[in-house]
Amino acid sequence: MSKSTAKKIQAIRGMNDLLPSDSPRWQFFETTVRQLMHRYGFDEIRTPIVEQTALFARSIGEVTDIVEKEMYTFDDRNGDSLTLRPEGTASCVRAAMENGLLYNQTQRLWYQGPMFRHERPQKGRYRQFHQVGVETYGFEGPDIDAEVILLSARLWRELGLLEHVTLELNSLGSTEARAAYREKLVAYFEQHHDVLDEDSKRRLTSNPLRILDSKNPAMAEMLNAAPQLMDHLDNESQEHFEQLKAMLDAANIAYVVNPRLVRGLDYYCRTVFEWTTTALGSQGTVCAGGRYDGLVEQLGGKPTPAVGFAMGIERLVLLLETLNLVPDAALGGCDVYLLPMDDNATVAALTLAEQLRSELPALRLQLHCGGGSFKSRMKKADKSSAPIAVLLGEDEMAANVVTLKFLREAREQQRVARDELAATLGELVSH
Ligand code: ATP
Ligand code: MG
Repeated sequence: MSKSTAKKIQAIRGMNDLLPSDSPRWQFFETTVRQLMHRYGFDEIRTPIVEQTALFARSIGEVTDIVEKEMYTFDDRNGDSLTLRPEGTASCVRAAMENGLLYNQTQRLWYQGPMFRHERPQKGRYRQFHQVGVETYGFEGPDIDAEVILLSARLWRELGLLEHVTLELNSLGSTEARAAYREKLVAYFEQHHDVLDEDSKRRLTSNPLRILDSKNPAMAEMLNAAPQLMDHLDNESQEHFEQLKAMLDAANIAYVVNPRLVRGLDYYCRTVFEWTTTALGSQGTVCAGGRYDGLVEQLGGKPTPAVGFAMGIERLVLLLETLNLVPDAALGGCDVYLLPMDDNATVAALTLAEQLRSELPALRLQLHCGGGSFKSRMKKADKSSAPIAVLLGEDEMAANVVTLKFLREAREQQRVARDELAATLGELVSH
């Protein structure tokens, strides 16, 4: 046989396979999220992964990191410019408008799925990553801001993460208040031009608020002394923010007001928030969101107040793993390995497996497939992680019984009548 010389094709950098050893953690997270959304009365929406490029350029903002340098944009065969979605909010607004979901009604939506950004891959930062997000439409008051924050807080509590994350909060005020503040801020930065790094100089004309976000230690002192948006809020935004804080206080949700929290995207107004952790190194933001009252109109709809957030699943799963918070029961494996002792028992075993799956819907039963000697069958049973093997051979079939073998404890094997098997297994394997 000639040796294969074909070069193996590899996955794209920054885009990961989710392997069987990791998927139980993801499923644990996803199941918890899905149940929570259901309990809060949020409905799922699924949108295409590809959209017209103009959707993101118009909503996220031309001078943001995402649109400037992170989007996967290409021309399709018709010459239309398309983009793999870098986030979920713009698509959600587009879909809601297009399908009449915003007409004379409110909405509480959630979504989940892959997002694409051409960033430098590192721990907690990938080119294909996954988000869960919620978006609400038609609610003006701070109660919905509080509601989505409380939803996220409950998720942390149920995952065992609440004590490991911090809620940071800020208000960006109205568009007008922000414009006035922006002028003051630019004037201040002009006075300290020599301290600004290259990135910040570039942002001075395009997106000066983002300079506040900078982590450059050389600029820290100057940024700390910069005029604060919080001191330039319009009265209504001020009131909105005070009410939101009072609601969070009443719900016993701790938060830190961070006047420099501005978020990367153009469309936010009033409330912005982030949940951060120190347990993941520099990629510490696990959830981020806020209010974006102007976006629907900006995309051609009627003015519609909106609040939402998105969380990064990779970072959260990493956090669950780091802190060892995934319960053993969620980590996969099976309860029973059903094993025909030789090929003559194959059909009977297949039938018995199906019957047991009907009788015990919660049972995780793996059926031995692929034949082999009795010894190799028992080896497979051992590898399966199941605590119990159910053996079916000629004797058993003749007597209408099975043999139970206990694989992880010193315990006598046991014969059980077929019509008592479901009850016996039900007792042995109580979830
Ligand atoms: P960052 O400051 O970390 O770049 P961002 O402001 O760009 O985050 P958002 O657009 O607000 O992020 O997305 C919400 C969440 O999605 C983030 O808080 C993070 O948990 C996750 N996220 C964003 N980009 C990535 C990525 N490239 N890889 C993995 N997760 C990501
Ligand atoms: Mg980013």
